[in-house]
Amino acid sequence: MSIIEIENLVYEYKRDEDDLVRAIDNVSIEIEEGSFTAIIGKNGSGKSTLAKNINALLIPDSGTVYVDGFNTAADEAGLWEVRQRAGMVFQNPDNQLVAAIVEDDVAFGPENLGVPSEAIDERVREALTAVDMYEYRKKAPHMLSGGQKQRVAIAGVVAMRPKCIVFDEPTAMLDPHGRDEVMDIMKRLHDDGITVVLITHFMEEAADADRIIIMNEGKIELDGTPEEVFRHADRIRALNLSVPIAVELGDRLRKRGREIPGDIIRMEELVTYLCQ
Ligand code: ADP
Ligand code: MG
Repeated sequence: MSIIEIENLVYEYKRDEDDLVRAIDNVSIEIEEGSFTAIIGKNGSGKSTLAKNINALLIPDSGTVYVDGFNTAADEAGLWEVRQRAGMVFQNPDNQLVAAIVEDDVAFGPENLGVPSEAIDERVREALTAVDMYEYRKKAPHMLSGGQKQRVAIAGVVAMRPKCIVFDEPTAMLDPHGRDEVMDIMKRLHDDGITVVLITHFMEEAADADRIIIMNEGKIELDGTPEEVFRHADRIRALNLSVPIAVELGDRLRKRGREIPGDIIRMEELVTYLCQ
């Protein structure tokens, strides 16, 4: 079953009276409930605009977006249903953390949803545990590392019990350790049944998804499993994007006459193949 259904979505920003930027140009996508989809594409290709249309932060100029059957362009009540089901995590955790204490921050979302106060404590505990930050519940967010802050921001979204979370480059501002922490949490949430949409420019993160969508100039350029998509390494490079290191190495070895299967996209797989 699809949890997100996007049909012929067009979204335009108005720069001036008659200067429109078409950020999303007639895109249709269905995203399976429980899946892990990575979206990649160079700067300005429309990824964030797409994400905000899923979360109803932006409303289509034409076409439709449904989240769990709710039209994002419906009335105010429908909007609540959408925002509750599709959470969003942004690049900079500092812009998402609002309270002076971790647990208050995580409680903010459910409080806004009108969750009864007895139930909020339980949600906060559950959400902080899910991101391995429960022991930091009394700390001030500004005392935490970037990766820890981002995990608290994720807990704030998890506390709303969304079915789907769209992560818009959540690891872009983190060091490699913080990146690993956040990637692990995203995988764990996915294992727990949450539908994950991850916008990233890290190809190794994308390689771990079930599906990769590559965007270019507001359109979908490639869509498939990581193995399918990374077979088109030349097309991806032509879009000014990189490919995973294992794909790059595989290509170079092939040019030197070694036979390397085309579906090798992860370092572990390449090493195993070369050592066998
Ligand atoms: P990405 O997330 O892939 O970098 P965006 O969705 O942010 O791409 O941007 C897509 C296009 O829309 C770009 O051409 C960008 O300049 C333009 N754009 C994004 N936000 C705005 C805005 N608030 N006003 C005008 N143009 C915008
Ligand atoms: Mg963006």
